[in-house]
Amino acid sequence: MSALPVAHPWFRRDRIDDRLTRIVEPHVHEFLQGNSWWLAGRDRDLVVDAGLGVASMRAELPELFAREPVLVITHAHLDHMGSAHEFTERWAHAGEPVAAPLGRSLVGRRLAEELGLRLDRHGPVPELFLTARPHEEFDAEAHRLAAVEPSATLADGDVIDLGDRELVTLHLPGHTPGSLALFEPAAGALFSGDVVYDDVLLDDLHGSDRAAYAESLRRLLRLPIRTVYPGHGGPFGAARLREIVEAQLRAWGEVRGPS
Ligand SMILES: [Zn+2]
Repeated sequence: MSALPVAHPWFRRDRIDDRLTRIVEPHVHEFLQGNSWWLAGRDRDLVVDAGLGVASMRAELPELFAREPVLVITHAHLDHMGSAHEFTERWAHAGEPVAAPLGRSLVGRRLAEELGLRLDRHGPVPELFLTARPHEEFDAEAHRLAAVEPSATLADGDVIDLGDRELVTLHLPGHTPGSLALFEPAAGALFSGDVVYDDVLLDDLHGSDRAAYAESLRRLLRLPIRTVYPGHGGPFGAARLREIVEAQLRAWGEVRGPS
């Protein structure tokens, strides 16, 4: 395998507004390129998901850790919890295997096997999920995701209080058993992890449950969501959310489409 170029800085910050920043890793293959969301609160900050873990968030984004934020791990896939071990407060659903995650490799075929990704359905995977490496010594083929013990567990309905903003925990199983999303009622904002994003949703990995997933998506349609901040790709609004959910339910045969 030819040597990957070194990219520094590794992370890119997209400022959404005064109190919301998206952190992305541009040199991760698009299949695994996820979002971390940094929400600033009066009393504490919240980070939703922790990237791929190939570069140190604490070293490269010191301002993110200035007030030791709470990390919420939406689910135990490697593109969402890579740097979780760098956070002192890391919260996840009790039913999610963050202490023993399934997929831990950046090598395409190995990760597909570990996660149960069906290549016949989802197409070929790249040899390696990176297009650059964070530093000279980084060995992409040897890299393994670091497992972590959550410092606390979250359940459906738990409210996270940042002082002047509150988020409600939603347990939305389907993609994984303990998938979480966070809903901020005052803003109509949903931080959705991999429950919903504007691309093919993965319902057939190890631990996925299509019937539970369908119920989770139906539940989203009953909430007053104005903007979705997903685990992958850009934010979208309520109309697009409804289209994505209804198309997915139709594809699963969960609702009758127009004949
Ligand atoms: Zn996932």
